[in-house]
Amino acid sequence: MRIIRTVHEVRVAVAEARAAGRIVGLVPTMGAFHAGHLSLMQVARTQTDLVVVSLFVNPTQFAAGEDLSAYPRDEQRDADMARGEGVDILFAPEPAEVYPDGFSTTIHVSSITDVLCGATRGPQHFDGVATVVAKMLGMVAPDVAFFGQKDAQQVLVVRRLVRDLDIPVRIEACPIVREPDGLAMSSRNVYLDPAARVQATALQRALAAADAAAKAGERDAAVLVAAAAAVLADAGIEPEYLELRATDDLRLLDRVEEEGLLAVAARVGGARLIDNCVLRPN
Ligand code: AMP
Repeated sequence: MRIIRTVHEVRVAVAEARAAGRIVGLVPTMGAFHAGHLSLMQVARTQTDLVVVSLFVNPTQFAAGEDLSAYPRDEQRDADMARGEGVDILFAPEPAEVYPDGFSTTIHVSSITDVLCGATRGPQHFDGVATVVAKMLGMVAPDVAFFGQKDAQQVLVVRRLVRDLDIPVRIEACPIVREPDGLAMSSRNVYLDPAARVQATALQRALAAADAAAKAGERDAAVLVAAAAAVLADAGIEPEYLELRATDDLRLLDRVEEEGLLAVAARVGGARLIDNCVLRPN
């Protein structure tokens, strides 16, 4: 596995692979790898010939007061894990390579970024995400890019920007990887002390309660959300949001006909955690 730090070098490596007829895959990450990240690398390994993993803690998607400086970083460990998954290139640029002096462009995806994490973290979050993803797609120019459904709103934002800007890449969304007790894997789980770690399992149990109600035929959004809210309340968690929205444009749903995205965000201990589940009533 090569570790590459410049746009020029990654472009040369990708161009060589493409000239040899190889399909190029990109897994964008902020590092601190866990099994969720590794699952994306594994899917990329099966679907593409040259697997590039980007490792870049993107400062522009953190609001002032968020955990940018505390965000877990261990490139050596990440490199070892990526190598273990058969990754070809770890693209780990310095901030100045991504945002050179005079950088002045921001990509803003409207409407779907006004709700959920866009409402609670502020507009700069998805502006930062959209801009850095557009840049990564421009720098690496992959045929396929792999994202986790754990960040369901991010997947929609990326799909929208790729469509709107005619970026020639296929976006592949991969399933949420969970701990044995159901907690969605996250780089931020390291912030949880033992008590908070137990409390955090309520997020998935809340989603599962709503999922069970949907599978039993419940379609009323208020009833489905209430089923999840009761589990959170029981665990002493007050969510930042707990909402049932359309899977395509995130409009708020009154009823779930085909499917709906139940998304939750909550502060548990020192960590801000998110999780989601697509409900499909029977
Ligand atoms: P991050 O490093 O947190 O920016 O995540 C990099 C990619 O991994 C994103 O596409 C995330 O959605 C994805 N990811 C993070 N956690 C999980 C998980 N538990 N299961 C699947 N994908 C995940």
